[in-house]
Amino acid sequence: MGPKKIIMSNKINHSMSLAKPEANDLSTKQKIALAIGFIGLFILILAIFNTNFPNKGQFLTTSLLLIFIGTVLFANAAYLTQSKGIKNDGVWFKSFTSRGITGWLTGVGLTLFYIALYFYPELLGLGVNGNSNTGLVSLFDPFSQILSGRPASQWFVYGTLYTVAILVFGYKFMLKYRHNRYQQIRTGSVMFFQLIFAFLIPEIMYRLNATLPYYDLKSIWPLNYYNFEQYRIDGFISAGNIGLGLLLFGVLSIFVISPILTYKYGKRWYCSWVCGCGALAETAGDSFRHLSSKKTSTWKFERWLIHAVLVFVVIMTTAVIYTYLGYDPEKYWLTKDVFLVSVGVLLTLVFALVMVFKRKALGKDAFYGAIGYFVIIAALIAFHYFNSDTKLFIFEAETLRSSYGFFIGAIFSGVIGTGFYPIFGNRVWCRFGCPFAAILGFQQRLLSKFRVTTNGGQCISCGNCSTYCDMGIDVRAYAQKGENIVRSSCVGCGICSAVCPRGVLKLENDSMKGRINSNDILLGNNVDLMDFVNQK
Ligand code: SF4
Ligand code: SF4
Repeated sequence: MGPKKIIMSNKINHSMSLAKPEANDLSTKQKIALAIGFIGLFILILAIFNTNFPNKGQFLTTSLLLIFIGTVLFANAAYLTQSKGIKNDGVWFKSFTSRGITGWLTGVGLTLFYIALYFYPELLGLGVNGNSNTGLVSLFDPFSQILSGRPASQWFVYGTLYTVAILVFGYKFMLKYRHNRYQQIRTGSVMFFQLIFAFLIPEIMYRLNATLPYYDLKSIWPLNYYNFEQYRIDGFISAGNIGLGLLLFGVLSIFVISPILTYKYGKRWYCSWVCGCGALAETAGDSFRHLSSKKTSTWKFERWLIHAVLVFVVIMTTAVIYTYLGYDPEKYWLTKDVFLVSVGVLLTLVFALVMVFKRKALGKDAFYGAIGYFVIIAALIAFHYFNSDTKLFIFEAETLRSSYGFFIGAIFSGVIGTGFYPIFGNRVWCRFGCPFAAILGFQQRLLSKFRVTTNGGQCISCGNCSTYCDMGIDVRAYAQKGENIVRSSCVGCGICSAVCPRGVLKLENDSMKGRINSNDILLGNNVDLMDFVNQK
């Protein structure tokens, strides 16, 4: 018998790491799970290409079930086979999560879907000019008939897929972070709000009272920037008490409910516990959270952009309401001028209070806040002096509204906000564009009990917290100094805390006093220990 042949792998391993940083290969169970999920997705893709399924209800149920089962099996195989704890191995080595080819392909696919959804819904099969639906939209017709008694629209298709994505990826997220109770509870909360408040209640409300305007009860102005348009106000008024109740709820949620909750808990009560955009970002977008830019220049850009969107939406909403007020004094008891003066007085009051009591806390930002305030006041004065019935100086109020709807509502929040998850990270919309996040952030910074506290002495500067903060906050820089994190952009997702191996970070609500402690930091190399010894 000759010598035994030793077979060695020809694969060259360039990594010098002892810890095998590259992505683990998928297990057989995961591959099967992926195949099941993709078959479900494939049914939807066939429908987009106009396959005429004989029994649409059954095919839709099969498709959604396969997607559901595939994701659940995948998550089980990925996380239940391991002990609890931080699970982000190999994110920079997988093509999907590190802007590789699969990441880009997913981004392009999602973007194309959004473009079709917003601008060419007939490509998805929406029946126009009285024709019945075909393609993907028609696949959802039976389900829509059950819920609201009408054929599906492209928005019903989107709402269903959106909700399914939050539910299945929410499950995956809960397994991934099962070492952290905060993540489990808040994910349960966003799944509940999406399924019940955003999806089921509006459909059922339509069935009970078809004259009521569509109302997602958890969407608050300026997110639902269209809420105070004439056709909706008319709809609320003509629906009687329930309509008036909804209108009142819409106003109260802006001026009473939201400020109280933000004072007590910070903006996380909305951005990480209730909001649908945040829900999709945190669940379906979780694999991309490390892609958010941490550059100082991005931080500067973010502050200009999000506040510019806020100024735009305030001016646009004022313009839209202003143009229809006064036509019918019986319906709209508010006159045009009283409305303009009220908006001006409210903004001036907020501005004056902030300048008197919070000038120091605002620092340099007071100047930028003043610019925003004066731009809005100048616009209000211009409305008064240069308007005809529907025109505000050169603009039609309706043009302002449709431009906002197009650029911000569709392109920014949909196409870029979600389509670009695999390229820019999962909270692009929340960070750069959402005007409600800007309002909540403003309050969080100045008038809230919330902060992320840091126990600097424990920090080993591993950088996990900064890497996985999807709002691009350099958490480590605060942790190293033992400084509290009080940032307008922090959505209180708690991931920084969940991925910290040393238990340095804690999300807390406590007294406002001493919340911002940037002046009290004691760095190790600032202290001369001999001073302390000599004092004894
Ligand atoms: S600082 Fe922490 S809690 Fe705040 S957004 Fe970033 S990861 Fe979430
Ligand atoms: S706070 Fe925690 S996660 Fe962040 S750098 Fe320090 S040890 Fe790492």
